[in-house]
Amino acid sequence: MNDQDLRLAPEGRSDLADLKPYRAPQMDAPVKLNTNESPYGPPEAFNEELRQRVAGLNLNRYPIRDFTEVREKLAEYLKTLTDRVWLANGSNEIILQLLLAFGGPERKVMTFEPTYGMHGQITRISGTRHLRARRNPNFTMHPEASIEAIQLHRPDVVFLCSPNNPTGNSNSAEEVIAICEASPALVILDEAYVEFSGRGHLRLVEECDNLVVTRSFSKSWRLAGARIGYLVAPPRIIDEVQKVRLPYHFSALSQATVLTALNHADEIMGTIETIAFERTKMYDELTSLRGVTAYPSEANFILFRCDSRPASEVWQDLLDRGILVRDFSEVPGCESCLRVSVGTHEENEKFLEALSTLLTPR
Ligand code: PMP
Repeated sequence: MNDQDLRLAPEGRSDLADLKPYRAPQMDAPVKLNTNESPYGPPEAFNEELRQRVAGLNLNRYPIRDFTEVREKLAEYLKTLTDRVWLANGSNEIILQLLLAFGGPERKVMTFEPTYGMHGQITRISGTRHLRARRNPNFTMHPEASIEAIQLHRPDVVFLCSPNNPTGNSNSAEEVIAICEASPALVILDEAYVEFSGRGHLRLVEECDNLVVTRSFSKSWRLAGARIGYLVAPPRIIDEVQKVRLPYHFSALSQATVLTALNHADEIMGTIETIAFERTKMYDELTSLRGVTAYPSEANFILFRCDSRPASEVWQDLLDRGILVRDFSEVPGCESCLRVSVGTHEENEKFLEALSTLLTPR
């Protein structure tokens, strides 16, 4: 190819010219507390059953396109109906499918910031306009102001996130209902971390016909590597999603993984209590550190503000000691903040020890 051919290469979409690819640093640090995965691998009995299921698959054939058995079994586990459940490759793909179906040019999405950055990113990828409303300085949502913003700007889709990433606080059922009743917009309630809070709002899908709840197998299910997410919604919403899904998007391997995970649900979920216990301890210790303000969390991570040193320096100093956390200091509303995932007891101790050394005046 010569220089002239290169100049003729098409440019990317002009509306995405300034969009930055998702680039959370993926480094091999000894203590990895930056992406809210489970620190515990799946149990051996799960691995063994999955090995057997995979050995029995006919991978020369396309998978069952509508994965009916998986939907039935997941619906049974969630105590809901099969035609209300839909799965995809991670809850990010679920959100993409929802925005391909309900967003697009001429349509608007509203988020309450700071919140999960991919809500805004996927909004832009789908060609939808992104309206940012704000949370209170302590990250709770202001009930009247939120509803006013929805009624004033009339978004087609509203995102809620409970517990919210990166701030860790949840929405009450009353808040979710009020947002659903405020307008005819589709309300996407992202519950990726809900199992750590015990405050899920799945039942509201039966009450509110504009509500979709999205969830993930990447956190409490300990299966981030498998890329599995799902939604629960009124069937008419799933009918719309079916128009935009790619054929056979949910692979035979993913289907086998979900069926296996459901057979071992109790054992897999057995680490939630440990993580919640460690979270409480970590929060108490962070709160007792001079130069740190920690925010209460119902998820498997904690956001904290560095009051005595620039957060990006603390992030680098932690990394130099082999501890990787997530730097949020550039995110509006989270200035001076870092987010730490709750790891194993040993990992959490190493993190807290390093942080207290870094913040002690020399
Ligand atoms: N929602 C929230 C709030 C998240 O934090 C994440 C991942 N960090 C996701 C959705 C996406 O999760 P996944 O695609 O792995 O299911």
